[in-house]
Amino acid sequence: MAKYKLEYVWLDGYTPVPNLRGKTRVASEEPKSLEDCPMWGFDGSSTQQADGSNSDCMLKPVAFYPDGGRANAFIVMCEVMMPDEVTPHPSNFRATIIDDEDAWFGLEQEYFLFHNKRPLGWPTDGFPDPQGEYYTGVGFANVGDIAREIVDEHLDLCLAAGINHEGINAEVAKGQWEFQIFSKGSKNCADDMWIARYLLLRLCERYQVDVEWHCKPFLGDWNGSGMHCNFSTKHLREVGGKDYFMKLMDAFENNIEEHIAAYGPDNQLRLTGLHETQSIDKFSWGIADRGASIRVPHSFVNNDYKGYLEDRRPNSQGDPYQICSRVLKTISEVPTS
Ligand code: ADP
Ligand code: MN
Ligand code: MN
Ligand code: MN
Repeated sequence: MAKYKLEYVWLDGYTPVPNLRGKTRVASEEPKSLEDCPMWGFDGSSTQQADGSNSDCMLKPVAFYPDGGRANAFIVMCEVMMPDEVTPHPSNFRATIIDDEDAWFGLEQEYFLFHNKRPLGWPTDGFPDPQGEYYTGVGFANVGDIAREIVDEHLDLCLAAGINHEGINAEVAKGQWEFQIFSKGSKNCADDMWIARYLLLRLCERYQVDVEWHCKPFLGDWNGSGMHCNFSTKHLREVGGKDYFMKLMDAFENNIEEHIAAYGPDNQLRLTGLHETQSIDKFSWGIADRGASIRVPHSFVNNDYKGYLEDRRPNSQGDPYQICSRVLKTISEVPTS
Protein backbone atom coordinates (compact mmCIF):
# COMPACT_ATOMS: atom_id res chain seq x y z
CA MET A 1 0.00 0.00 0.00
CA ALA A 2 1.35 3.39 -0.99
CA LYS A 3 1.86 5.96 1.68
CA TYR A 4 1.42 9.67 1.00
CA LYS A 5 3.72 12.56 1.86
CA LEU A 6 2.27 15.90 2.89
CA GLU A 7 4.74 18.75 3.17
CA TYR A 8 3.29 21.31 5.57
CA VAL A 9 4.79 24.70 4.67
CA TRP A 10 4.54 27.92 6.71
CA LEU A 11 6.19 31.29 7.26
CA ASP A 12 8.35 31.73 10.35
CA GLY A 13 8.63 34.72 12.69
CA TYR A 14 11.80 36.33 11.32
CA THR A 15 11.59 40.03 10.46
CA PRO A 16 11.52 41.96 8.25
CA VAL A 17 11.35 38.95 5.92
CA PRO A 18 9.96 35.60 7.03
CA ASN A 19 11.59 32.35 5.94
CA LEU A 20 9.70 29.43 4.49
CA ARG A 21 9.71 26.35 6.70
CA GLY A 22 8.38 22.87 6.01
CA LYS A 23 8.10 19.43 7.48
CA THR A 24 6.71 16.17 6.18
CA ARG A 25 3.74 14.27 7.50
CA VAL A 26 3.16 10.72 6.20
CA ALA A 27 -0.46 9.65 5.67
CA SER A 28 -1.96 6.26 4.83
CA GLU A 29 -4.94 7.66 2.92
CA GLU A 30 -4.51 9.79 -0.16
CA PRO A 31 -5.65 13.34 0.62
CA LYS A 32 -8.05 14.62 -2.05
CA SER A 33 -8.30 18.22 -0.90
CA LEU A 34 -7.61 20.61 1.94
CA GLU A 35 -10.39 19.01 3.98
CA ASP A 36 -8.29 15.84 4.23
CA CYS A 37 -5.37 17.70 5.83
CA PRO A 38 -5.63 17.92 9.63
CA MET A 39 -4.14 20.70 11.75
CA TRP A 40 -0.61 20.04 12.95
CA GLY A 41 1.91 21.63 15.28
CA PHE A 42 5.58 22.62 15.46
CA ASP A 43 8.18 23.99 17.82
CA GLY A 44 7.72 27.74 17.63
CA SER A 45 10.75 28.35 19.83
CA SER A 46 12.95 27.32 16.89
CA THR A 47 11.28 29.70 14.43
CA GLN A 48 11.07 32.90 16.48
CA GLN A 49 7.37 32.29 17.06
CA ALA A 50 7.31 31.16 20.73
CA ASP A 51 9.33 30.86 23.93
CA GLY A 52 10.94 27.53 24.81
CA SER A 53 8.81 27.31 27.95
CA ASN A 54 5.59 27.43 25.92
CA SER A 55 6.75 26.39 22.49
CA ASP A 56 3.79 24.92 20.62
CA CYS A 57 2.39 26.69 17.58
CA MET A 58 -0.33 25.27 15.36
CA LEU A 59 -0.43 24.82 11.58
CA LYS A 60 -3.80 25.44 9.93
CA PRO A 61 -3.91 24.15 6.34
CA VAL A 62 -5.17 26.82 3.92
CA ALA A 63 -4.09 25.72 0.43
CA PHE A 64 -3.34 22.36 -1.18
CA TYR A 65 -0.98 21.53 -4.07
CA PRO A 66 0.18 18.33 -5.81
CA ASP A 67 3.95 17.99 -5.39
CA GLY A 68 5.55 17.05 -8.72
CA GLY A 69 8.99 16.80 -7.12
CA ARG A 70 8.23 13.75 -4.98
CA ALA A 71 6.32 10.50 -5.43
CA ASN A 72 2.81 10.36 -3.89
CA ALA A 73 3.21 13.80 -2.43
CA PHE A 74 1.39 17.08 -1.75
CA ILE A 75 2.26 20.50 -0.40
CA VAL A 76 0.01 22.06 2.22
CA MET A 77 0.31 25.82 2.72
CA CYS A 78 -0.48 26.69 6.35
CA GLU A 79 -1.28 29.66 8.54
CA VAL A 80 0.39 29.73 11.96
CA MET A 81 -2.11 29.75 14.84
CA MET A 82 -1.80 30.08 18.60
CA PRO A 83 -2.18 26.87 20.68
CA ASP A 84 -5.96 27.50 20.98
CA GLU A 85 -6.08 26.78 17.21
CA VAL A 86 -8.36 29.73 16.46
CA THR A 87 -6.29 32.84 17.24
CA PRO A 88 -3.88 33.80 14.45
CA HIS A 89 -0.25 34.07 15.55
CA PRO A 90 1.06 37.69 15.37
CA SER A 91 3.33 36.64 12.47
CA ASN A 92 0.30 35.42 10.51
CA PHE A 93 -0.49 38.29 8.13
CA ARG A 94 -2.59 36.10 5.86
CA ALA A 95 -5.32 35.84 8.50
CA THR A 96 -6.02 39.56 8.50
CA ILE A 97 -5.50 40.78 4.94
CA ILE A 98 -8.14 42.11 2.57
CA ASP A 99 -9.28 39.62 -0.03
CA ASP A 100 -11.55 39.90 -3.06
CA GLU A 101 -12.06 36.94 -5.37
CA ASP A 102 -12.83 39.35 -8.20
CA ALA A 103 -9.49 41.10 -7.85
CA TRP A 104 -6.93 39.57 -10.21
CA PHE A 105 -3.21 39.75 -9.56
CA GLY A 106 -0.16 39.04 -11.68
CA LEU A 107 3.09 39.14 -9.70
CA GLU A 108 6.45 39.30 -11.49
CA GLN A 109 9.04 37.77 -9.18
CA GLU A 110 12.62 38.80 -9.94
CA TYR A 111 15.58 37.18 -8.17
CA PHE A 112 19.24 36.24 -8.56
CA LEU A 113 20.65 32.73 -8.59
CA PHE A 114 23.84 32.52 -6.49
CA HIS A 115 26.62 30.00 -6.07
CA ASN A 116 29.26 30.60 -3.37
CA LYS A 117 27.69 34.00 -2.66
CA ARG A 118 28.17 35.22 -6.27
CA PRO A 119 25.54 35.34 -9.03
CA LEU A 120 25.73 32.42 -11.47
CA GLY A 121 28.03 33.30 -14.34
CA TRP A 122 29.90 36.09 -12.52
CA PRO A 123 33.69 35.84 -12.24
CA THR A 124 35.00 34.99 -8.74
CA ASP A 125 36.55 38.46 -8.53
CA GLY A 126 35.32 41.60 -10.22
CA PHE A 127 32.31 41.92 -12.45
CA PRO A 128 30.95 40.50 -15.71
CA ASP A 129 30.46 42.64 -18.82
CA PRO A 130 28.07 45.56 -18.26
CA GLN A 131 24.31 45.04 -18.56
CA GLY A 132 22.85 45.06 -22.03
CA GLU A 133 22.66 41.61 -23.57
CA TYR A 134 21.51 39.59 -20.55
CA TYR A 135 17.80 40.55 -20.54
CA THR A 136 15.89 37.75 -22.35
CA GLY A 137 19.33 36.63 -23.47
CA VAL A 138 20.41 33.32 -24.89
CA GLY A 139 23.77 31.58 -25.05
CA PHE A 140 26.34 30.54 -22.47
CA ALA A 141 27.98 33.98 -22.36
CA ASN A 142 24.68 35.56 -21.39
CA VAL A 143 22.93 33.05 -19.16
CA GLY A 144 25.60 30.54 -18.15
CA ASP A 145 25.03 26.81 -18.02
CA ILE A 146 22.69 25.50 -15.31
CA ALA A 147 20.36 28.47 -14.84
CA ARG A 148 18.05 27.56 -17.68
CA GLU A 149 17.77 23.99 -16.45
CA ILE A 150 16.71 25.34 -13.05
CA VAL A 151 14.14 27.84 -14.29
CA ASP A 152 12.61 25.30 -16.69
CA GLU A 153 12.34 22.64 -14.01
CA HIS A 154 10.81 25.21 -11.68
CA LEU A 155 8.20 26.05 -14.31
CA ASP A 156 7.24 22.37 -14.58
CA LEU A 157 7.01 22.01 -10.80
CA CYS A 158 4.70 25.03 -10.59
CA LEU A 159 2.48 23.71 -13.38
CA ALA A 160 2.32 20.28 -11.70
CA ALA A 161 1.21 22.04 -8.52
CA GLY A 162 -1.64 23.75 -10.39
CA ILE A 163 -0.04 27.18 -10.01
CA ASN A 164 -0.68 29.64 -12.84
CA HIS A 165 2.98 30.16 -13.65
CA GLU A 166 2.76 32.44 -16.67
CA GLY A 167 6.29 32.75 -17.93
CA ILE A 168 10.01 33.12 -17.46
CA ASN A 169 12.62 35.55 -18.65
CA ALA A 170 16.29 36.17 -18.04
CA GLU A 171 16.57 39.65 -16.49
CA VAL A 172 18.73 42.72 -17.02
CA ALA A 173 21.57 41.76 -14.66
CA LYS A 174 23.63 38.64 -15.30
CA GLY A 175 22.39 35.80 -13.08
CA GLN A 176 19.01 37.55 -12.59
CA TRP A 177 15.73 35.88 -13.59
CA GLU A 178 11.98 36.44 -13.41
CA PHE A 179 8.86 34.33 -13.31
CA GLN A 180 5.25 35.50 -13.25
CA ILE A 181 2.33 34.10 -11.27
CA PHE A 182 -1.30 35.02 -11.99
CA SER A 183 -4.30 34.28 -9.81
CA LYS A 184 -7.75 35.52 -8.84
CA GLY A 185 -7.96 36.78 -5.26
CA SER A 186 -5.18 38.19 -3.11
CA LYS A 187 -4.90 35.17 -0.84
CA ASN A 188 -4.82 32.75 -3.78
CA CYS A 189 -2.18 34.70 -5.63
CA ALA A 190 -0.02 35.18 -2.54
CA ASP A 191 -0.33 31.51 -1.53
CA ASP A 192 0.73 30.51 -5.04
CA MET A 193 3.68 32.90 -4.95
CA TRP A 194 4.92 31.61 -1.60
CA ILE A 195 4.69 28.02 -2.83
CA ALA A 196 6.42 28.95 -6.11
CA ARG A 197 9.22 30.46 -4.00
CA TYR A 198 9.31 27.30 -1.88
CA LEU A 199 9.58 25.09 -4.98
CA LEU A 200 12.43 27.19 -6.37
CA LEU A 201 14.38 27.09 -3.10
CA ARG A 202 13.92 23.35 -2.73
CA LEU A 203 14.85 22.67 -6.35
CA CYS A 204 18.03 24.76 -6.09
CA GLU A 205 19.34 22.70 -3.14
CA ARG A 206 20.29 20.00 -5.62
CA TYR A 207 22.34 22.41 -7.71
CA GLN A 208 24.11 23.93 -4.67
CA VAL A 209 22.52 27.17 -5.75
CA ASP A 210 20.96 29.80 -3.48
CA VAL A 211 18.13 32.12 -4.41
CA GLU A 212 18.99 35.72 -3.54
CA TRP A 213 15.68 37.51 -3.03
CA HIS A 214 17.16 40.79 -1.78
CA CYS A 215 16.04 43.77 -3.85
CA LYS A 216 19.53 45.19 -4.40
CA PRO A 217 22.31 42.63 -3.99
CA PHE A 218 24.78 44.93 -5.82
CA LEU A 219 24.93 48.70 -5.70
CA GLY A 220 26.15 50.47 -8.81
CA ASP A 221 25.04 49.85 -12.35
CA TRP A 222 23.25 46.58 -11.67
CA ASN A 223 19.46 46.31 -11.74
CA GLY A 224 17.70 45.51 -8.50
CA SER A 225 14.94 42.95 -8.18
CA GLY A 226 11.27 43.84 -8.02
CA MET A 227 8.01 42.05 -7.75
CA HIS A 228 5.77 44.22 -9.91
CA CYS A 229 2.15 43.87 -8.89
CA ASN A 230 -0.26 43.87 -11.83
CA PHE A 231 -3.82 44.23 -10.61
CA SER A 232 -7.39 44.66 -11.75
CA THR A 233 -10.71 44.68 -9.97
CA LYS A 234 -14.07 43.85 -11.52
CA HIS A 235 -14.79 47.59 -11.64
CA LEU A 236 -11.47 48.35 -13.35
CA ARG A 237 -12.03 45.60 -15.92
CA GLU A 238 -15.69 46.26 -16.66
CA VAL A 239 -16.42 49.94 -15.92
CA GLY A 240 -13.13 51.85 -15.60
CA GLY A 241 -13.20 55.36 -17.12
CA LYS A 242 -10.76 58.27 -16.94
CA ASP A 243 -12.52 59.93 -14.02
CA TYR A 244 -12.32 56.84 -11.81
CA PHE A 245 -8.71 56.24 -12.85
CA MET A 246 -7.66 59.79 -11.87
CA LYS A 247 -9.32 59.40 -8.44
CA LEU A 248 -7.58 56.06 -8.00
CA MET A 249 -4.19 57.60 -8.77
CA ASP A 250 -4.90 60.37 -6.24
CA ALA A 251 -5.59 57.70 -3.62
CA PHE A 252 -2.31 55.95 -4.43
CA GLU A 253 -0.49 59.29 -4.19
CA ASN A 254 -2.08 59.97 -0.77
CA ASN A 255 -0.79 56.62 0.53
CA ILE A 256 2.84 56.61 -0.64
CA GLU A 257 4.28 55.70 2.77
CA GLU A 258 1.70 53.02 3.52
CA HIS A 259 2.44 51.33 0.20
CA ILE A 260 6.21 51.48 0.65
CA ALA A 261 5.83 50.01 4.17
CA ALA A 262 4.11 46.97 2.65
CA TYR A 263 6.36 46.63 -0.40
CA GLY A 264 9.45 44.93 1.06
CA PRO A 265 12.57 46.01 3.00
CA ASP A 266 15.52 48.09 1.77
CA ASN A 267 13.48 49.45 -1.14
CA GLN A 268 15.30 52.79 -0.86
CA LEU A 269 18.33 51.00 -2.32
CA ARG A 270 16.29 49.99 -5.36
CA LEU A 271 13.77 52.80 -5.91
CA THR A 272 16.34 55.44 -6.82
CA GLY A 273 14.82 56.84 -9.99
CA LEU A 274 17.37 54.85 -12.03
CA HIS A 275 17.22 51.30 -13.47
CA GLU A 276 13.54 51.44 -14.51
CA THR A 277 12.23 52.75 -11.18
CA GLN A 278 10.69 55.88 -9.70
CA SER A 279 12.23 57.39 -6.52
CA ILE A 280 10.92 55.93 -3.28
CA ASP A 281 9.41 59.21 -2.03
CA LYS A 282 7.67 60.17 -5.28
CA PHE A 283 4.51 58.89 -6.89
CA SER A 284 3.88 59.04 -10.60
CA TRP A 285 1.95 57.16 -13.23
CA GLY A 286 2.66 56.98 -16.92
CA ILE A 287 1.53 55.24 -20.06
CA ALA A 288 4.06 52.50 -20.88
CA ASP A 289 6.47 54.34 -18.54
CA ARG A 290 8.85 51.98 -16.74
CA GLY A 291 10.25 54.91 -14.76
CA ALA A 292 6.85 55.55 -13.13
CA SER A 293 5.50 54.13 -9.86
CA ILE A 294 2.47 52.84 -11.75
CA ARG A 295 2.76 51.85 -15.39
CA VAL A 296 -0.45 52.13 -17.38
CA PRO A 297 -0.56 49.73 -20.34
CA HIS A 298 -1.47 51.25 -23.73
CA SER A 299 -4.37 48.78 -23.86
CA PHE A 300 -5.84 50.33 -20.70
CA VAL A 301 -6.09 53.81 -22.20
CA ASN A 302 -7.19 52.54 -25.61
CA ASN A 303 -9.96 50.58 -23.88
CA ASP A 304 -11.50 53.64 -22.18
CA TYR A 305 -9.38 53.26 -19.03
CA LYS A 306 -10.43 49.67 -18.46
CA GLY A 307 -8.15 46.75 -17.67
CA TYR A 308 -5.18 46.29 -15.36
CA LEU A 309 -2.46 48.51 -13.90
CA GLU A 310 1.09 47.72 -12.84
CA ASP A 311 2.48 48.96 -9.52
CA ARG A 312 6.23 48.68 -10.08
CA ARG A 313 7.32 49.49 -6.53
CA PRO A 314 6.91 46.17 -4.64
CA ASN A 315 10.25 44.42 -4.32
CA SER A 316 11.49 40.89 -4.69
CA GLN A 317 11.59 40.23 -0.94
CA GLY A 318 8.13 41.64 -0.27
CA ASP A 319 5.37 39.59 1.28
CA PRO A 320 2.71 39.06 -1.41
CA TYR A 321 -0.05 38.89 1.27
CA GLN A 322 0.80 42.40 2.42
CA ILE A 323 1.40 43.76 -1.09
CA CYS A 324 -1.91 42.61 -2.59
CA SER A 325 -3.84 43.61 0.52
CA ARG A 326 -2.38 47.15 0.50
CA VAL A 327 -3.36 47.60 -3.14
CA LEU A 328 -6.93 46.50 -2.33
CA LYS A 329 -7.07 48.81 0.69
CA THR A 330 -6.23 51.87 -1.39
CA ILE A 331 -8.69 50.81 -4.09
CA SER A 332 -11.38 50.47 -1.40
CA GLU A 333 -10.92 54.13 -0.48
CA VAL A 334 -12.18 55.26 -3.90
CA PRO A 335 -15.95 55.24 -4.50
CA THR A 336 -16.97 53.40 -7.66
CA SER A 337 -19.91 55.71 -8.42
P1 ADP B 1 6.23 43.27 -18.03
O1 ADP B 1 7.52 42.54 -17.83
O2 ADP B 1 6.10 43.89 -19.40
O3 ADP B 1 5.95 44.27 -16.94
P2 ADP B 1 4.90 40.65 -17.66
O4 ADP B 1 4.42 39.99 -18.90
O5 ADP B 1 6.12 40.10 -17.02
O6 ADP B 1 5.01 42.22 -17.97
O7 ADP B 1 3.76 40.61 -16.54
C1 ADP B 1 2.48 41.08 -16.78
C2 ADP B 1 1.57 40.51 -15.73
O8 ADP B 1 0.29 41.11 -15.82
C3 ADP B 1 1.36 39.01 -15.83
O9 ADP B 1 1.69 38.42 -14.59
C4 ADP B 1 -0.14 38.90 -16.08
O10 ADP B 1 -0.71 37.80 -15.42
C5 ADP B 1 -0.68 40.16 -15.47
N1 ADP B 1 -2.01 40.52 -15.95
C6 ADP B 1 -2.46 40.50 -17.23
N2 ADP B 1 -3.76 40.85 -17.29
C7 ADP B 1 -4.15 41.11 -16.02
C8 ADP B 1 -5.38 41.52 -15.40
N3 ADP B 1 -6.48 41.77 -16.13
N4 ADP B 1 -5.41 41.67 -14.05
C9 ADP B 1 -4.31 41.45 -13.32
N5 ADP B 1 -3.12 41.07 -13.83
C10 ADP B 1 -3.03 40.89 -15.16
MN1 MN C 1 7.94 41.00 -16.48
MN1 MN D 1 11.15 42.16 -14.92
MN1 MN E 1 6.61 44.45 -14.96
